[in-house]
Amino acid sequence: MRTAKSAIICGGGIVGLCTAYYLAREGLAVTVVERQSGPGHDHCALGSAGYVSPSHVIPLAAPGMVWKGLKWMMDSRSPFYIQPRLDTELMRWGWLFWRASNRRHVARAAPLLRDLCLQSRALYEELDDLTGDRSGFRKDGLLNLCRTQESLDDEANGLARVANELGVEAQVLNSTQTAALGLGVKLDIAGSVYFPIDAHLTPAKFCAALSGLLAEMGVRFRWNTTIFGWRVVGQRVSAAQTTSGDLIADEFVLTGGSWSGGMAAGLGLRLPMQAGKGYSLTLPAPRFRVTKPFILKERRVAVTPMGNTLRFGGTMEIAGHNDRVRPERVEQIIAAVNAYLPEFSAADFAGVRPWFGYRPVSPDGLPYIGRFGQYRNLATACGHAMLGVTLAPGAGRLLAEVICERKPSVDLTLLNPDRYA
Ligand SMILES: Cc1cc2nc3c(=O)[nH]c(=O)nc-3n(C[C@H](O)[C@H](O)[C@H](O)COP(=O)(O)OP(=O)(O)OC[C@H]3O[C@@H](n4cnc5c(N)ncnc54)[C@H](O)[C@@H]3O)c2cc1C
Repeated sequence: MRTAKSAIICGGGIVGLCTAYYLAREGLAVTVVERQSGPGHDHCALGSAGYVSPSHVIPLAAPGMVWKGLKWMMDSRSPFYIQPRLDTELMRWGWLFWRASNRRHVARAAPLLRDLCLQSRALYEELDDLTGDRSGFRKDGLLNLCRTQESLDDEANGLARVANELGVEAQVLNSTQTAALGLGVKLDIAGSVYFPIDAHLTPAKFCAALSGLLAEMGVRFRWNTTIFGWRVVGQRVSAAQTTSGDLIADEFVLTGGSWSGGMAAGLGLRLPMQAGKGYSLTLPAPRFRVTKPFILKERRVAVTPMGNTLRFGGTMEIAGHNDRVRPERVEQIIAAVNAYLPEFSAADFAGVRPWFGYRPVSPDGLPYIGRFGQYRNLATACGHAMLGVTLAPGAGRLLAEVICERKPSVDLTLLNPDRYA
């Protein structure tokens, strides 16, 4: 009898879990290797805003971002902060980011992001049915709230226009029209852009439900197991060297999030990546029942109702893997909430512990998905930046298509992990 092909998933964040699912569904014998203890371990999706958002069609690397980044660079209170430091990896990443921040890149990336996001959203619906509606998956849309008319006009002429052109419905609403949606809280805004197609979930619930499904499917988990090196024979990876010994498999998949660049470097591969730290604060019993998720646009803060709780998340800090919590960044989230939602004050956040996670940020705002040219049995799905929750099922299914040698459901050229080799 032929034994099933085996695969090791290197990293058990949301992308690793989804990849494990789609490979197991193809009949592979899958093992997830994760350095933390689990299940229920902390990873970047856990404290995220949980958006499944086809509205995010414009990549992070877009015209204007370099200028904004430079302006914000010196201000550790700004929504997008790059800590200036002498680091050749950061300088190279910055240069690649600058090169990608142009109209041509956005024109090529936006339709691809739309397709990836829409496919993923459909897969979340399937997964939600499979896991018995246990992920808090809700199809309530998403609003970008704008405090000023100038910023609303920018949104209308920028993101909303691009989204509508790409077939992702975006409605520009004034403050009265926004209030008429009944968000459950008083707003101090000029208006909003509403994306009815967007959805959201409760990441901890989704990951728990998916992990349960994986266990039922026979997927093995190696918790407390850190990958620190590789064994290679010719053009094949033969084993991952781990703190639990060498682990062999037919296929290896790098899903180490913001640590994937380091994992790949051990194989002589280049995956430019920065860790984009973000914070979130979750109110266990908010005073107001917010009915839909929304983003406080100018301040880049995401607000998500998750069951009876309410989460506020945001800020992007490119300062390496540095576990220091910067109080001024957390304060900025609270100040933004108070500016848009005047009924909320700092007192609402008293005693709430800030969570932080590291987004895996590629320089062109697109993930790395596919096989590496140098090895026949090595693939990756990483670098999803602000879209890792949204794109995880789509990335997992794409990898399963690649590994099972079927035609991928989207053209993978722009996502090629060798694009900076
Ligand atoms: C504040 C905030 C809000 C966000 N909101 C959203 C949102 O609303 N929607 C959205 O789409 N995205 C959002 N994101 C982004 C999203 O959370 C990330 O893109 C996504 O979670 C990345 O998942 P990942 O599996 O690639 O990486 P990770 O979650 O980082 O997982 C990588 C895993 O690999 C493990 N690992 C690393 N190195 C090793 C090793 N050597 N050996 C073994 N294991 C290893 C790590 O422990 C980790 O568990 C948000 C992020 C933040 C910070």
